[in-house]
Amino acid sequence: MHDPNCIFCKIIAGQIPSKRVYEDEEIFVFHDIHPWAPVHFLMVPKLHIPSMAQLLPSHEALLGRMMVLAPKLAVEQGCGPYPEGGFRMVCNTGAQGGQEVHHLHIHVMGGPRPWAKG
Ligand code: 5GP
Ligand code: ZN
Repeated sequence: MHDPNCIFCKIIAGQIPSKRVYEDEEIFVFHDIHPWAPVHFLMVPKLHIPSMAQLLPSHEALLGRMMVLAPKLAVEQGCGPYPEGGFRMVCNTGAQGGQEVHHLHIHVMGGPRPWAKG
């Protein structure tokens, strides 16, 4: 499913340029245009699922694949390996969850944090 008004569907289709990190038949990954961390990319299903609130049991394998892919891509993008390196994942859901783009996406953020202890 593709939503012609969705900015992330347009990015997946190549109608809006993005800095691509990874792509397969089900998943598209690209750098966030306004990074909050030295490494900040977004993982999205190619299927237009508006948010976590619309997830169905049939999406379990897809979301599982995204979770398993995240640490591999994080290291490739410079997050550093566990446990010294690492990253955080955020999935804003709905207005009160801070979601602005209504195509499910997982933020993966990491990299050196010179301001943080440990
Ligand atoms: P949300 O608040 O919905 O969780 O986050 C949406 C994210 O998408 C924001 O961090 C924002 O910077 C990013 N974003 C919005 N529009 C674009 C775009 O056109 N290209 C890219 N690469 N990122 C975008
Ligand atoms: Zn979409």
